[in-house]
Amino acid sequence: TEKDRYVVIGNPVTHSKSPAIHAAFAAQTGQQMDYQRLLAPLDGFAASVRAFRAQGGLGANVTVPFKLEACALATRLTPRAAAAGAVNTLQFSDTQILGDNTDGIGLVTDIVQNAGVALRGKRILLLGAGGAARGAVLPMLEQQPAMLVIANRTVSKAQELQQLASADAAAQAVRTVVTACRFEEIPGHFDVIINATSASLQDAVPMLPAGVMDGRTLAYDMMYGAQPTAFLRFAAQHGAQCRDGLGMLVEQAAEAFALWRGVRPDTAGVLQQLRAGLQSAAEQ
Ligand code: NDP
Repeated sequence: TEKDRYVVIGNPVTHSKSPAIHAAFAAQTGQQMDYQRLLAPLDGFAASVRAFRAQGGLGANVTVPFKLEACALATRLTPRAAAAGAVNTLQFSDTQILGDNTDGIGLVTDIVQNAGVALRGKRILLLGAGGAARGAVLPMLEQQPAMLVIANRTVSKAQELQQLASADAAAQAVRTVVTACRFEEIPGHFDVIINATSASLQDAVPMLPAGVMDGRTLAYDMMYGAQPTAFLRFAAQHGAQCRDGLGMLVEQAAEAFALWRGVRPDTAGVLQQLRAGLQSAAEQ
């Protein structure tokens, strides 16, 4: 019998860990699926999706730089994808293309379940207002934090996201206070600080005022790699609890897998394997 087919679509996509993660989930749950990388030309995302769907493909993960285009291509959106304006998971049927965004719920699951840090009633600082930050807002508000401060280098983008977030909070009858500011204006101390900027790619840290973090703070970087990012090195110097985005990656994949296959895989072993792989790559 033929296996059900899925892909991760991106450009570049060579380094994506998604095929390994989904292969591990499929083996664990006994699902017959085939999951490959699909490199789409920068001007050919929609055509690549159409071709894959015509060949019988059932679903796709979408990565850089196509998450906004995937949102436009979907004929139906989940509420969290609509709120994010970005899609990382597509599911094809005869009649529709469903678009979901599992990045934000992946982040929340990694913080709340894997790291064991509750968000309810907490003061949260979100650094960045790009695609990853947008995806994180609605799933975080569902946890009913006391306060969400969105800080960004380009403050107008933080303000736009703040307005969307405030509307979401109102719609959900959550009393979270949502504000936006520049990095240098960030007020007070935070329980959880999430770095959703790509500053770590340049080995840089957003300029944060003294006192935003200390030993009680969870510092979370959505980026991951063999070495701690500049943000996590900075956080460690301030005594904060540090966590990178590898767990978010595995949890967003688990959520996509659950949507496609109707069964939620166990993530702990897969996360351990990936972590060991990163470490041995670093030692070589
Ligand atoms: P975007 O390009 O959409 O957004 C980038 C953000 O970073 C913007 O807010 C931008 O600010 C800010 N930024 C960039 N450079 C700097 C700098 N030098 N100093 C301060 N701020 C800076 O990227 P994404 O939102 O898609 O991704 C953000 C990060 O999250 C990436 O590192 C990515 O790898 C990671 N990620 C991890 C995932 C996971 O599963 N673990 C999933 C998705 C993303 P401005 O608006 O001023 O330009």
